Amino acid sequence: MAYDDNNVFAKILRGEIPSKKVYEDTHALAFYDIHPARPVHVLVIPKGKYADFTDFTARASAAEQTGFNKAVVAAAKAAGVIEPGYRLVANTGVNGGQEVPHFHVHILGGAHVGPMVARS
Ligand code: 5GP
Repeated sequence: MAYDDNNVFAKILRGEIPSKKVYEDTHALAFYDIHPARPVHVLVIPKGKYADFTDFTARASAAEQTGFNKAVVAAAKAAGVIEPGYRLVANTGVNGGQEVPHFHVHILGGAHVGPMVARS
């Protein structure tokens, strides 16, 4: 998937659209999802231009990837969900249901999240 500079998360990173920040460091920004699916719903995005998880894994440096993973945990801590737990979701591509083409991880928690995915 090609990276589109006009995607909504790129605009949030550039400060063109407001967001409710949870955590930020040199590698990542975390903010609350505008349409929360669970009591706590945080999105974590890398600061680099990566379209999805596949792209991030292929092109981001080891430092960026490690930094991003640590930022996800820092965001989960800041959101207060480390205990009793949380779920990470990274929708990827069309079949993964990805809507915004800037790699992101969803942190879901605040209550039991439920079955891993709905069975169809
Ligand atoms: P995806 O389906 O791509 O994995 O998830 C995209 C998420 O971004 C959705 O949960 C959606 O609610 C959230 N979202 C879309 N636009 C905005 C926005 O402008 N601000 C925030 N905070 N979240 C957004």
